[in-house]
Amino acid sequence: MHFTGTVYRNPYWPTWPLLEITQGCTHNSCKFCTMYKEVPFRMSPMEWIEQDLQEIAAMDPNARTIQLLSANPLVLRYDKLAAIFEMIRRYLPKMEYIYLAGRVTDLRNKTVEELKALRELGMREISLGVESGDDWTLDRIQKGYHAEDILEQCHKLEEAGIDYWMTFLNGVAGKSHSREHAIHSAEIFSQCRPMLVGTGGLTLFPGTPLKDEAERGAFDPLNEKEMLEELRLFAEHLTCDCSFITHHTVVGSNLSGPHFLQRKEKILAALDHEIRHGDMERLAAIRRNKRTL
Ligand code: SF4
Repeated sequence: MHFTGTVYRNPYWPTWPLLEITQGCTHNSCKFCTMYKEVPFRMSPMEWIEQDLQEIAAMDPNARTIQLLSANPLVLRYDKLAAIFEMIRRYLPKMEYIYLAGRVTDLRNKTVEELKALRELGMREISLGVESGDDWTLDRIQKGYHAEDILEQCHKLEEAGIDYWMTFLNGVAGKSHSREHAIHSAEIFSQCRPMLVGTGGLTLFPGTPLKDEAERGAFDPLNEKEMLEELRLFAEHLTCDCSFITHHTVVGSNLSGPHFLQRKEKILAALDHEIRHGDMERLAAIRRNKRTL
C-alpha cells in the first residue's frame, strides 16, 4: 500500500480499508494545524491507486466500505473523482459506502448534479473540518472561507443527498472572541443538516503560528474551564437534530451519541457539572500530552 507521511484515519470507522488518493492538504495554512506541514499536496498516480486496490481486493474482495485519504481528497475535480470511484467499483464490486474528508471550499468546483452522480458512484459521507461559523475567527485562523460559504456548500450536499459531518474547534478564537465563536458557529451549523457535529479542543502544538502568537502574547488561549464554558455555550445554541460527539478529554464519552436534541439538556447538565467540579489540572495534563490533532 502507498501511504505518505502520517496516516490520519477517522477513529469512528476503525475497520475500514484505507486508500490514499491524494497526499497532503491543498490549503496547509490553518494556524493551528501541524498535520501535513512536510507533505506537499498532490493527487496519487492512478497506477498507485490501482495497485492499492488490487491489494485491498486480494485481502477483502467483499469490502463494502472504504475511507479515502488524505486531508482533502474531496478537492479533486468531478471527473477525477468519478474515475477513481469507478476503479474502486471495478476491484471491489460490492462497494457501497465511500467516506472521505474535505474542506468547505472543495465543494465549490462541483455542481449539485455532479455531487449526485458521485453519490451514485458510492460517495455517501463527507467529513468537513469546518472549525467555526464566525467570520472573525475564520479569518483569524486562516481557514480560507466564511460563514456564507459554509451555508452555500453544505446546502449543495443536502440537495445531493450526501451525509456530512461538521467539526467545531473549541478554543480556537481565544478569550477575546470565545463567545462570538461559540454562538455564531452554533447558529451557522444549525442552519445546516449535518448527520453529525463533532467538537475537538484546541491544543497549541509546537511549530504552529497560533502557538508562536500565544508565546508573544498575541493570542490569548482559553484555560480548561473556559474551554468547557465555550463548549457549553456552543451546545446550548446548537439546534441541529444530529449526532453529537466530542473529543473533550474527560467528559467526551458521557456526551457523545445520536439524537443531540433529545439529549441536549443532559449534555448541558454534564458540562455544568464538569465546569463546577471537574479536575482542571488533570484536563490540562491530558492536553499537554497530546501529540497531534
Ligand atoms: S486543518 Fe485541515 S484544511 Fe487546515 S491545514 Fe490542516 S489539514 Fe489542511
